[in-house]
Amino acid sequence: STTPVKVAVTGAAGNVSYSLLFRIASGAIFGPDRPVELRLLEVTPALKALEGVVMELDDSAFPLLAGVETGDDPNKVFDGVNLALLVGAKPRGPGMERGDMLKDNGGIFAPQGKALNDVAADDVRVVVTGNPANTNALIAMNNAPDIPNERFSALTRLDHNRAIAQLAAKTGASVTEISNMTIWGNHSATQYPDLFHAKVKGQVAAEAVGDQAWIEDTYIPTVAKRGAAIIDARGASSAASAAAATIDHARDWFAGTAQGDWTSMAVPSDGSYGVAEGLISSFPVTTKDGDYEIVQGLEIDDFSRGKIDASVQELTEERDTVRGLGLI
Ligand code: NDP
Repeated sequence: STTPVKVAVTGAAGNVSYSLLFRIASGAIFGPDRPVELRLLEVTPALKALEGVVMELDDSAFPLLAGVETGDDPNKVFDGVNLALLVGAKPRGPGMERGDMLKDNGGIFAPQGKALNDVAADDVRVVVTGNPANTNALIAMNNAPDIPNERFSALTRLDHNRAIAQLAAKTGASVTEISNMTIWGNHSATQYPDLFHAKVKGQVAAEAVGDQAWIEDTYIPTVAKRGAAIIDARGASSAASAAAATIDHARDWFAGTAQGDWTSMAVPSDGSYGVAEGLISSFPVTTKDGDYEIVQGLEIDDFSRGKIDASVQELTEERDTVRGLGLI
C-alpha cells in the first residue's frame, strides 16, 4: 500500500525517541515501500524541544516520511493512528514510593488509553515502552474498552535481545545462531530469561552452556541488571538499544517471526502457563500480520516455575495497586 501508515510516538522529545523516530522514518518498521506519517505527543513544556527534533526530521529528507504532526493533546495526536508507541512515562525517581510512581503513570496512561479508544484507527496496535511498561499497558488497555485487548503489548524485546547477546558471548555463537529465546514475566529485575527452551545452533542453550551455577548466578542477573550497568558506564540510561528493541517488536508483530522461531512480547495473559488472565506478562509468541499467538505446550521445570511465579507475583501486586487507585 502507498497510503501512509500513521504512527504515534509519545515522549517524542526524549532520549529513546531521539533514536526511535529516525529509524521509523527510514522505514525500519514497515519496510522500504511504505510511507509513514508521524504523530508526536509531548507534555506542554517539551513542545519546544520537540520542534527541534522535527527540524532534524525535516533535514533528514526521508523519502518515506509523508508528514509529521505534533501536540500535547492525545485526542488530536492519536487521531486515526494505526500504531501507537507509548514511550513517554514517569519512572520512579530517587526516594519515590512505588504507589506514587504507579499513580503518576496512571495520570498518563489512563487518558492515553481513553484517547486511543476514541480516536485511533480501528486496526490500532499499541506498544508500551515507558516504564513500568507492563502495568502502564494494563492501565491503557483497561481504559480502552472498545479496542480488543490483544492489541495492547509491552516491551520485553530489549531484555530478549540482551539475553541473546549474553548467550552469544558465552558460547561463541553469533546472535543469528540463537533461536527460541524467551523472557517471561515483568520488564523488571524479576524478569526470567529462559535458557531451557532457547537454542544455540539447534542445541538447548542450558545444555550448550552446561553450567547451572553460571545461569543462576551470572547470566540471569547480568541480563536483568543490564540497564543499571549501562547507566553506570554511560552516565545515562540505555536509549538507542531501547529504541532498536521497540523497532524490532513492532516490525516483527507485523512482518512475522521466522518459521520455527519465536520472540518475546508482554501481552495480556489468556491463562497460559498459569499466568492469571488479564495480566500483561511476557511470553514466547509467534507473530504474523499484526496478530500474535502465545506458544503453547512448553514444559516448565521447577526452577523455571519458581522464576516465572515470582515475576508474575510482582505483576499481580502492581495490578492490585492500580486497581486500588481506581486506574483500572
Ligand atoms: P527516555 O526516552 O530515556 O525513556 C522513556 C521511557 O522509556 C522511560 O519510561 C524509560 O524507563 C523507558 N526506557 C528507557 N530505557 C529503557 C529500556 N532499556 N528498556 C525499557 N524501557 C526503557 O526518557 P526521557 O526522560 O529522555 O524522555 C521521556 C520523555 O517523555 C520526556 O520528553 C517527557 O517530556 C516525555 N513524556 C511525555 C508524555 C506524553 O507524551 N504525554 C508523558 C510523560 C513523559 P526507565 O527510565 O525506567 O528505563
